[in-house]
Amino acid sequence: MQNKNTYKNISIDGPAASGKTTLGEELALRINYKFLDTGLMYRFVAFRSLLDGIDVNNEKAIVDISNNIDISSFDLQKGEVYFQGKKVTASLKERNIDSTVSLIAKYSLVRKILVNHQRQIALNNNLVMVGRDIGTVVLPEADHKFFITATPEIRAKRRFKDLLFLNNLSYEEILYDIKKRDSIDISRKNSPLIPAKDAIVIDTSEMSFDISVIEIMKFLEVL
Ligand code: C5P
Repeated sequence: MQNKNTYKNISIDGPAASGKTTLGEELALRINYKFLDTGLMYRFVAFRSLLDGIDVNNEKAIVDISNNIDISSFDLQKGEVYFQGKKVTASLKERNIDSTVSLIAKYSLVRKILVNHQRQIALNNNLVMVGRDIGTVVLPEADHKFFITATPEIRAKRRFKDLLFLNNLSYEEILYDIKKRDSIDISRKNSPLIPAKDAIVIDTSEMSFDISVIEIMKFLEVL
């Protein structure tokens, strides 16, 4: 269980490509909070595993990698991740990571290690934390909880637009990847993707980015 926290924490959960990360970053900027995208932590473990040629079924080796993560690799201001002195954030978002990350995120020991790091960071910062299980498992006592969602088709359309000049994935491939990742994240036994009972659910399918930010800010007047 979380220790008593003197800092304020806001959790934002939601499915793949729901826009939660961009919203969380914008929110943190506006209210002068630190920002942690926990998806990048799971992606980093997947990245290191692929780099070392570790099979996704080799749970022990993947747990070892998680154990050796240096938490200072994650920048809480700009949301960048560093490895051996280089920025690797863009590499963490490539398709080979997309297709392995949900498989390694199922391992309970990997989750335990990363969740410990996440709670430690939350204990020491006013923080917006984004992920899948933040309001339910990582920070059940968060001051504000949001769950951001949109239809898979809208999410794929937005992701397709974002990636247009970065790679040549089709809309159909992106939609397929999103649905596959959703299905693994929702159906896993350990910390499945689900809104916390006390989370405010915001469906952004029909909302622009600016309106979504305003919608969230409405609930934060008491900060
Ligand atoms: O948020 P993002 O799409 O970058 O997350 C990548 C993957 O990491 C998710 O599909 C999920 O499997 C895993 N994840 C998780 N718990 C979190 C954040 C991410 O299981 N708190």
